[in-house]
Amino acid sequence: MSQSAIVLGAGIIGVSTALQLARRGRSVVLVDRRGAGEETSYGNAGLIQREGVVPYGFPQELGLLIRYGLNNNIDAHYHARALPFVAKFLAQYWWHSNARRHEVIARSYAPLIENSVSEHADLIREAGAEHLIRKDGWTEAFRTEAKRDEEFKEADRLAREYGISYKKLTPADLQAREPHLSTEFIGGLHWEDPWSVLDPKGLTMAYLKLFESLGGKFVRGDATTLTQLPSGKGWRVQTDEGPVEAEQAVIAMGPWSEDVTKKLGYRFVMGVKRGYHMHYGTKGNATLNHWTMDKERGYFLAPMNQGIRLTTGAQFALRDEPKNPVQVERAEKVARSIFPLGERLDAEPWMGSRPCTTDMMPIIGEAPRHKTLWFAFGHAHHGLTLGPVTGRLIADAMAGEKPFLDISPYRPERFNP
Ligand SMILES: Cc1cc2nc3c(=O)[nH]c(=O)nc-3n(C[C@H](O)[C@H](O)[C@H](O)COP(=O)(O)OP(=O)(O)OC[C@H]3O[C@@H](n4cnc5c(N)ncnc54)[C@H](O)[C@@H]3O)c2cc1C
Repeated sequence: MSQSAIVLGAGIIGVSTALQLARRGRSVVLVDRRGAGEETSYGNAGLIQREGVVPYGFPQELGLLIRYGLNNNIDAHYHARALPFVAKFLAQYWWHSNARRHEVIARSYAPLIENSVSEHADLIREAGAEHLIRKDGWTEAFRTEAKRDEEFKEADRLAREYGISYKKLTPADLQAREPHLSTEFIGGLHWEDPWSVLDPKGLTMAYLKLFESLGGKFVRGDATTLTQLPSGKGWRVQTDEGPVEAEQAVIAMGPWSEDVTKKLGYRFVMGVKRGYHMHYGTKGNATLNHWTMDKERGYFLAPMNQGIRLTTGAQFALRDEPKNPVQVERAEKVARSIFPLGERLDAEPWMGSRPCTTDMMPIIGEAPRHKTLWFAFGHAHHGLTLGPVTGRLIADAMAGEKPFLDISPYRPERFNP
């Protein structure tokens, strides 16, 4: 099978990239070792985070570092035995999160986020996936005036500097929007620009269907078999349908991308932030109207098609270590005290691994030492948000066109000069 491009990895990033290439008339084979959208892109919180122009930094304040060091939180948890292996990643992540550097990074990162909703809108329309989308933002609920004031101040800054829209909610506003939420919250903040997805895997599948309707092929195969053709002009990968060859290849394997890039001699300092979810029914006639974050505790409740999806923050651990859903247990206890959650709907918590770089920006661009090989991974907390933007940027650049945004801040050379 000889094609113009192979895309490795069928999460939201790989599927969106394959689709953007197919929309340009390219013949594309998308390869995954399992079904599309079944890994990290399956279980996320479903937000297209148009407000997320500032990527999540590593805490800098001593008080916060001590709090996280105690390791009894919901929003962050670490495996002590993993620390020696992730120390380099954490140290560099901390360094990039310094206020001045973080601000510079946010300026480079923001253009990706600013195009997230419009790029999804384009694909959602074409894929006929409107029924999976809500366009009414998401809410943070506060327990303390100090946190509320801090977040309002930051929201004012984001509105001023990045044009983000939000509403401040009094306790009465919050109660009117979420009548079944506990009255212990002293107010909230509603981000108005983001969209939410009622079924993140369903959206990936809708994009896959559109890709296939444009002539794209999805096959099972092992991306670690990727080799450059002896002529140096193209790539081959082994699939269940035999070897596939193409002029260009894209690595979009999320947290597994380094399984291939390492073999080709690239060294990225990457880490994973593992995260969990569990679905719940509701008691009686209780409803949750919006995606809601219990801000001080650091977990989400998302009213999705599968039930109320509770998602957790970051777990710093090795990617392949067995699950340790201690954050779900902690969050569930708190969540039950603020909303009438019913029974658990899943046999066990789901776990995924956010693929993270140390400077909080994804890697989007051509491989420095292999022309015709492209990288599209490291989207951390915002992979769902950034799938279509990344796909379009990669497709533009692979065609030799000027990408619709400057992709130089995301170039792989920043780690592999
Ligand atoms: C709890 C949680 C909540 C989140 N909430 C949000 C949110 O609200 N909004 C948001 O924007 N993002 C969110 N994220 C982040 C988002 O889910 C990820 O950034 C995104 O899913 C990454 O997509 P991906 O395509 O890069 O990786 P993946 O979806 O993991 O896809 C990688 C693919 O590569 C395949 N693969 C791996 N190895 C091989 C191999 N050897 N051969 C072939 N195929 C292989 C895998 O099978 C997989 O299908 C959240 C993440 C978590 C964990």
